[in-house]
Amino acid sequence: MEKPAKSKIVILGAGFAGVRVALDLAKSAPELEIILINKNAYHEFHPDFYEIAAASLPESQRKQVPRLTYESLKGSVAIPLAEIFGNTNMKIVINSVVSLDFKSQEVVLRGMKRLSYDFLVLALGSETNYFNIPDLKQFSLPLKSVDDALNIRNEIDEIFARKKEKEKINIIVGGGGFTGCELAGELVGFLRTLSKIHAHKQHEVRLSVVEASPVLINGASTSVQQAAEKRLRSLGVEIYLNSKITNVSKSTLFTDPHLVLPFDLLIWTAGVRSNSLVDRLAGVHTEKTCLIVDKSLRIIPLKNVFAVGDLAYCFDEENSTQVAATAQTAIDQAKYTAKNIDHLIKNEPLILYKPKKPKFIIPLGGKFAVGEIAGLVLEGIEAWWLKRAAALGYFASVLPTTKAFQLWSAGNKFFVSNDYEDVQ
Ligand SMILES: Cc1cc2nc3c(=O)[nH]c(=O)nc-3n(C[C@H](O)[C@H](O)[C@H](O)COP(=O)(O)OP(=O)(O)OC[C@H]3O[C@@H](n4cnc5c(N)ncnc54)[C@H](O)[C@@H]3O)c2cc1C
Repeated sequence: MEKPAKSKIVILGAGFAGVRVALDLAKSAPELEIILINKNAYHEFHPDFYEIAAASLPESQRKQVPRLTYESLKGSVAIPLAEIFGNTNMKIVINSVVSLDFKSQEVVLRGMKRLSYDFLVLALGSETNYFNIPDLKQFSLPLKSVDDALNIRNEIDEIFARKKEKEKINIIVGGGGFTGCELAGELVGFLRTLSKIHAHKQHEVRLSVVEASPVLINGASTSVQQAAEKRLRSLGVEIYLNSKITNVSKSTLFTDPHLVLPFDLLIWTAGVRSNSLVDRLAGVHTEKTCLIVDKSLRIIPLKNVFAVGDLAYCFDEENSTQVAATAQTAIDQAKYTAKNIDHLIKNEPLILYKPKKPKFIIPLGGKFAVGEIAGLVLEGIEAWWLKRAAALGYFASVLPTTKAFQLWSAGNKFFVSNDYEDVQ
């Protein structure tokens, strides 16, 4: 049999999807030329961002957490690509992708560098969507990257440093989905810790969640929604449901029906859209800003370009719903894609992507989480440990075991420094 020609595979984005495609291909076909392009030299672990946004650093800690610095905090969710790919022959390029030329099969990078490919994997993830709400982008902070998370915690720290002890502090989380609820739950502890450090009257500190739909965590089962709402209310979070944010000024938020809420900090977690590079691609099919893919995750009509993770639009026919944009989906699609690239190179038939039912656990302040796995609703510390176990499983899937364990243990130490004594 004729030996297949050496192929050049270019993977764009080192998130959950890109890292998995690259690791699987590097393992199954080390003879291939694989290039991974990412704008940062690290891989970000989004599920723990809420912890970073609410983390007490030494300047704001009652109980000192050993060795917790700004760098170690960032390092607990930003894994250097060199550590992930140290044992492979892959090439890693740190640069931003600015456009794609499907005709000449080239990727254009910042500085007008061009890179050719035989097979291309688009795994550039998603961005915050502000839905054209006037001034929302200007007057809110997003939570989409580790730097966003650090900005939020620094901003809150500064608000406490700036305000006199009897002055009101209003923090609003825009959006009561998974991210908004996780963040609000953990901010409760952070705000209590800061109130004590700055001798700020706790009853003058208000944390609210503003959500457009009638429920929190739209998309989860009713039991999970109710458990999450009960937990957040018991922590003192004010919840505004059926309240669609219509516009924002420097320190006030307006909703429909009519609500006017003042804020010192507005954190916007409610909108996600695919990477805006998608808007600049010609001749592709899109739905809800994402790239429509065929059953083997190739973008239509191209036969050598795959789209995986948050920027792919995939419909789950069995459950008549759009496949959820989660890390689990991204990893799962990546595994199919690595196999299919190998099949294409070997001229073998492609395998068809079968979405899995999503599982989720939502941490809601301290060592407490709510989740649903295989129809079973879990609540409390057990669910929180399951979430931590999932993080360890993930770290061990991309890093050598010892490093994975070190990273995980560091998180366990750092992430429980907030004060929940009065509420648990
Ligand atoms: C706060 C938060 C918490 C979350 N928690 C969970 C959770 O608990 N469980 C879960 O399953 N999902 C969770 N998600 C969703 C999950 O993170 C995403 O679904 C997942 O990251 C999608 O993977 P991806 O590979 O498509 O994109 P990403 O992981 O976002 O990766 C995209 C990569 O592309 C890079 N990139 C982007 N643009 C460019 C460019 N122009 N040039 C070069 N590189 C570029 C980025 O730097 C990034 O490395 C969470 C998301 C957020 C925001």
